[in-house]
Amino acid sequence: MKIVLITGASRGIGAASARCLATQGYVVAINYKSNHQAAEEVKSDILAAGGKAALFQADISDEQQVVAMFNAIETRLGHVTHLVNNAGVLQTQMRVEEMNAERINRMLTQNVTPYFICAREAIKHMRDSSYPVTSCAMVNVSSAASYLGGANEYVDYAAAKGAIDSFTTGLSLELAAEGIRVNGVRPGCIYTDIHADGGEPNRVDRVAEFLPLKRGGTPAEVANAIAWLLSDEASYATGTFIDLAGGK
Ligand code: NAP
Repeated sequence: MKIVLITGASRGIGAASARCLATQGYVVAINYKSNHQAAEEVKSDILAAGGKAALFQADISDEQQVVAMFNAIETRLGHVTHLVNNAGVLQTQMRVEEMNAERINRMLTQNVTPYFICAREAIKHMRDSSYPVTSCAMVNVSSAASYLGGANEYVDYAAAKGAIDSFTTGLSLELAAEGIRVNGVRPGCIYTDIHADGGEPNRVDRVAEFLPLKRGGTPAEVANAIAWLLSDEASYATGTFIDLAGGK
């Protein structure tokens, strides 16, 4: 049985991934931090379509809550065989010269450390699962900001995503001999609520005309790439990235 944990699956790219993977035979563990109603709607949609899903509330920036979440998944569903490290946050747009250490550290503790901790716990589950370990996989949701830089808006976020790219490369090499694949996706400007947290809810519409494809992306377009990288169809892909940034 394929059991996928998606962090931050109550909204945006995580929610689209949950809906997509549920149609492909995964039992979906939906993690969220605080928006219970939104998470419940994702679960209801999956169940209504004949899929299987359960909710797991946890703040993934808290190591103990991550460990407790994995234990709860094992008890209620079984061992995690696939992981989508997705939950992430933005902060108000500003230039580097305005940033203080508290803000920068928050970016790292919210966007980098949780990916390591969730991966660590998922690896234990994958090894303990009766599902073939060579079919276990994870996808890290990075960002095109990692190579574009986020200038004048959020270089701290871009740097955190750069760390996720390095993490993806390094972990893929650590796990390759076992056959556990680790890949990344790098979305560009996608229509989700995250831009409101950056102080500009309509950011995607503002920048769309400057993108080669002349439009923002949808969460489903990112979810499709995540689903492919997790699947056995991507069996010879590890340590690689799919850029979903409209040509940027
Ligand atoms: P979003 O719509 O703002 O959703 C964020 C999700 O993360 C929510 O489900 C939220 O849960 C959850 N979350 C945040 N902090 C959490 C924590 N500490 N513990 C558990 N869950 C937490 O974001 P999104 O745009 O879909 O972004 C998803 C990923 O894509 C992020 O890594 C982001 O950096 C990346 N990305 C997004 C874009 C874009 O343009 N949207 C572009 C590039 C990369 P609650 O609902 O409970 O708060």
